[in-house]
Amino acid sequence: MTQTDLLIIGAGPAGCSAAVYAARSGVKTVIAGGAMPGGQLLQTNDIENYAGFINPVPGYELMDNMHKQCKRLGVEITSDEIIKLEGDKPPFTLTAAGGKQYQALAVIIAAGAGARWLGVKGEENLKGHGVSACATCDGFFFKGKEVMVVGGGNTAFEDALFLSQICPKVTLVHRREGFRADAVTVEKVKNTPNISMMLNCVVEEVLGEQTVTGAVLRNVVSQETAQVPCAGIFVAVGAVPQTAWLQGSGVELDPSGLVKVDAHQRTNIDGIFAAGDCTESEFRQAVVAAGSGAKAGICAASFVNLHR
Ligand SMILES: Cc1cc2nc3c(=O)[nH]c(=O)nc-3n(C[C@H](O)[C@H](O)[C@H](O)COP(=O)(O)OP(=O)(O)OC[C@H]3O[C@@H](n4cnc5c(N)ncnc54)[C@H](O)[C@@H]3O)c2cc1C
Repeated sequence: MTQTDLLIIGAGPAGCSAAVYAARSGVKTVIAGGAMPGGQLLQTNDIENYAGFINPVPGYELMDNMHKQCKRLGVEITSDEIIKLEGDKPPFTLTAAGGKQYQALAVIIAAGAGARWLGVKGEENLKGHGVSACATCDGFFFKGKEVMVVGGGNTAFEDALFLSQICPKVTLVHRREGFRADAVTVEKVKNTPNISMMLNCVVEEVLGEQTVTGAVLRNVVSQETAQVPCAGIFVAVGAVPQTAWLQGSGVELDPSGLVKVDAHQRTNIDGIFAAGDCTESEFRQAVVAAGSGAKAGICAASFVNLHR
């Protein structure tokens, strides 16, 4: 059993930022980083919107810097995947895949989220080669090219608006006629001349060998299919918080699996905090994750200092 003051689950921007604040408060901190220490940013080449970098920074470099910063401050980073969290007061017991156990006075859940994908033919092979789940991040690479956005919520509509500023044509594909996006955003999209909508349509297949060349769409009413050319497909059909392992732990999740937190990143269990994309339905960005991680780190450190 490894004893520590604070165990952070997740080594993405939220977990690393939390660790920096906790370690600098004199709290012994371990990060269990799971299968992808570094988190989602490892999937992207150029990050241009993280404050403090004059030029775009590769995702792996930004995360490598964060890990080195944590280590310099004495934080231990492991690749343990936590599968169980037990206890309703400190110390909490955490079990990793393989059986290793931790005991911690406080816990921060910073397990992030993964994109919800379409699950259609061609999609998996062309991820990173025209198929993306982040228009804010990857849209710039499609400047001057025709693109498609799939989804009917605010993310899809905002992605379409964002892309319409840099792409000559944006096709918004949605499986219904009604939208979850708010009326104001829908109106803006409708008034943007280079965005066209294909409603009652689903993507049947992503086309392309090395890069995306288009998609096969099926109209769910008429059942007719059509090939629509495009260089990029932005999937915005939701995100999946990586919190399934918390079922049964007593930590409260919302119906979509997000960890419920208050303004101090506290969960319903005293001593368990959460931050980053696993708590965030709207602003899934690295700088936001780092910000909520900082809050969790500060609050968890205060909690530890009161309880040891
Ligand atoms: C392709 C792509 C490009 C992006 N580009 C940008 C961009 O340019 N700018 C920007 O601001 N944002 C970008 N984002 C969004 C950004 O990556 C996320 O908002 C940010 O990474 C969230 O940070 P996080 O720490 O909450 O979670 P994540 O980065 O998802 O990290 C989660 C961490 O938790 C770990 N983990 C999960 N479950 C467990 C477990 N059970 N046990 C142990 N560890 C676990 C994972 O291994 C990982 O280390 C992009 C996202 C994607 C997918």
